[in-house]
Amino acid sequence: MSPAKPKVVVLGSSFAGLTTARFIREHAGDRVDVVVVDRNPYLTFVPNIQMEVFAGHDPLETMLLYTPAIHAKDANTFLNAEVVALDPDARRVQIVPSDRPGSAPESLSYDYLVVALGCRLAYDQIDGFGDHGDTVSSGFYGNKLRRRLAAYKGGPIAIGSARFHQGLQDKPDWLPVGLAACEGPPLELGLGMAHWLSTHHLGDAQKITLFTPAGMIAEDAGEAIVTPFLEMAAKKGFGYLNNAQDVRHVHADGIEFESGASLDAEIKLIVPDWVPHRFLVELSITDERGFVLTDRWMRNPTHPEILAVGDAAALTVPKLGSLGHQQAEIVARQIAIAVGALGHGDTGADYQPEILCFGDIGGFQGFYIHSNTWYGGTTSVFKMGYAPYAMKLAFKEMYFRTGGKPPAFGVPATHLLMDHFPGE
Ligand SMILES: Cc1cc2nc3c(=O)[nH]c(=O)nc-3n(C[C@H](O)[C@H](O)[C@H](O)COP(=O)(O)OP(=O)(O)OC[C@H]3O[C@@H](n4cnc5c(N)ncnc54)[C@H](O)[C@@H]3O)c2cc1C
Repeated sequence: MSPAKPKVVVLGSSFAGLTTARFIREHAGDRVDVVVVDRNPYLTFVPNIQMEVFAGHDPLETMLLYTPAIHAKDANTFLNAEVVALDPDARRVQIVPSDRPGSAPESLSYDYLVVALGCRLAYDQIDGFGDHGDTVSSGFYGNKLRRRLAAYKGGPIAIGSARFHQGLQDKPDWLPVGLAACEGPPLELGLGMAHWLSTHHLGDAQKITLFTPAGMIAEDAGEAIVTPFLEMAAKKGFGYLNNAQDVRHVHADGIEFESGASLDAEIKLIVPDWVPHRFLVELSITDERGFVLTDRWMRNPTHPEILAVGDAAALTVPKLGSLGHQQAEIVARQIAIAVGALGHGDTGADYQPEILCFGDIGGFQGFYIHSNTWYGGTTSVFKMGYAPYAMKLAFKEMYFRTGGKPPAFGVPATHLLMDHFPGE
């Protein structure tokens, strides 16, 4: 009988988990057994939901990528189950099958664990959101916004973020503190909404106010990008409210903020706080909020057999899918080295975050941000035009057609094309 292979359990099968499982197979081959757990047998392609909403399409028809067949092709075992508990000392995870209520809990052991469970997008913490708020982070909310747009009476529109609460325990000095989890979406929504208003002869940017809990919206993109962006937005007629601190209350006619400010609004589009899953809070491997603590190799310092990727990791600030992509490669190499499939010199680069973001702004145009100035670097590129829109669309198409395996030249080719070619 051949000896049992090390068992790698990947929790989560969205951008972070799917990509990590793919890279583990690429680097560790058949030296490991890979088990992937997700409560859903599909990935929701969140970044492109806005495009579908403004085009009047149902995102539930176009933005779900089914993942079990992708895992089967890679000889991974996919478990359609909810993760309900983790015991790092016993190296066990408790799961409950999620395809039918009433299923019985069971326990899963591991040799290596990858936490790629993202976060709760905490709309439930925003008073009044359910009845009066809108967003584009799921098929449900995308369709709700489509109905809201169909009933739109022409009133003011507010778009922005609730306050993000980053963990500060063991935060490295190089990582700044962000007050908003992810502010590409409010920029995109603002510009996309202005275009939607004008094409529907319902107004323009003057109806829209962008708000942020921070001193500057999208602060992680860096001042060199945001300052000219805000000048451009002001020229178009956008209102702007900064230092709002947090959303206190959403009601039928507007939003009240922690700062004491308020905005009148018929449509209230809000990006919420990203909050760790409850079972991660108060574990020895997480910070005071529940984000998984890691070094720059994405390994937990006290339990190095536990690694984290994507939004669940404390080092992922802002909460951006492109950061998880970089971490997935690091984690896969770490595991492949640990099981002897790669040598100790094969670590690749450690985690060096940079903001990489494509936004839809309507009219088949988009923006592209590539920046690391927030982390002390010198890269700062911002472009608008048809090319970023085409890239955003093409990435989704390629992602679906390849089963979450866009080619390895994708990221370097993106930088080459977008950073060095002239803007439009
Ligand atoms: C409106 C919007 C637009 C965005 N646009 C961009 C963009 O243009 N570019 C970009 O890079 N990023 C963008 N982001 C951020 C991006 O969506 C996230 O960074 C990314 O989805 C994080 O991936 P993840 O796999 O870590 O977490 P998630 O995508 O949240 O996935 C977590 C997975 O874990 C599963 N799961 C969670 N809890 C459990 C549990 N207890 N048991 C079992 N399974 C569980 C979920 O079903 C899910 O499959 C956007 C976010 C929003 C909200």
